[in-house]
Amino acid sequence: MIIIRTVTELRDAVRAARAAGKRVGLVPTMGAFHQGHLSLVQRAREQCGFVVVTLFVNPTQFNESADLARYPRDEAADAALAASVGADVLFAPAVDEVYPKGFATTVEVAALAEPLEGVVRGTQHFRGVATVVTKLLNMAQPDEAFFGQKDAQQALIIRRLVRDLDFPVRIEVCPTVREADGLAMSSRNTLLDAESRRRAPALSRALFAVSKAVADGDTNVDAVLKLGRSILIEEGIEPEYFAAVSAETLAPVEVIDGETLVAIAARFGSVRLIDNVIVNSGSGAS
Ligand code: AMP
Repeated sequence: MIIIRTVTELRDAVRAARAAGKRVGLVPTMGAFHQGHLSLVQRAREQCGFVVVTLFVNPTQFNESADLARYPRDEAADAALAASVGADVLFAPAVDEVYPKGFATTVEVAALAEPLEGVVRGTQHFRGVATVVTKLLNMAQPDEAFFGQKDAQQALIIRRLVRDLDFPVRIEVCPTVREADGLAMSSRNTLLDAESRRRAPALSRALFAVSKAVADGDTNVDAVLKLGRSILIEEGIEPEYFAAVSAETLAPVEVIDGETLVAIAARFGSVRLIDNVIVNSGSGAS
């Protein structure tokens, strides 16, 4: 695996791979790799002959400077992990390679950026995400790009932007990888203190309780969320949001009828965690 820092070198590497008849897979990340990230690289490896992993802690998607400042960074460890699961390139550009002086263009996926994370983090968060993903797709020009269901709203926004702007890329959204106790893997988990780490799995327990209730035939959103909320209360968790929305439009739903995203966000001290499940009346979680 080689580490590349410039767009020119990345394009050269991708061009050579394509000339050799390989499909190009892209896995955008902000580093601090865990098995969630590595599952995306492994999936890309299965699908593509040439796998580019990007490592860029994108400043424009952080709404809190403290969150950006202490975001975990360990490029050497990440490079070793990416290589161990078969990445061909780790693209780790400097901030001014991605945002040259005078940078002025942004991409916004209007309505999908407003609810849930948009309410708490502001719409500039997904403007930052959509802009950097647009740039990474243009830089690497992959055939396929891989994202995690853990960030469900982000995945939906990326699917929409790829469709709306006619990017010639197939987007694959891979399942959320969890710790043994159900906590969704996240780079931010390492920032939790011991007590918060003990309480945090209540988020997934609440989501799984909703899934089970739906699978058992309860389609009333108020009722199933109330059940989930009782699990949060046991651990003293007041979520920033805990909502059931259409998995396609993110509009709130009252009755579960079709694919529904149940999403949660909560703070543990200064660490913010998110998680979600997709439920569908009669079929439970996926
Ligand atoms: P991040 O480095 O947090 O920006 O994440 C990079 C990619 O990994 C995104 O597509 C995330 O959705 C995905 N990802 C993060 N955590 C997980 C997880 N626990 N399971 C699956 N994918 C994940």
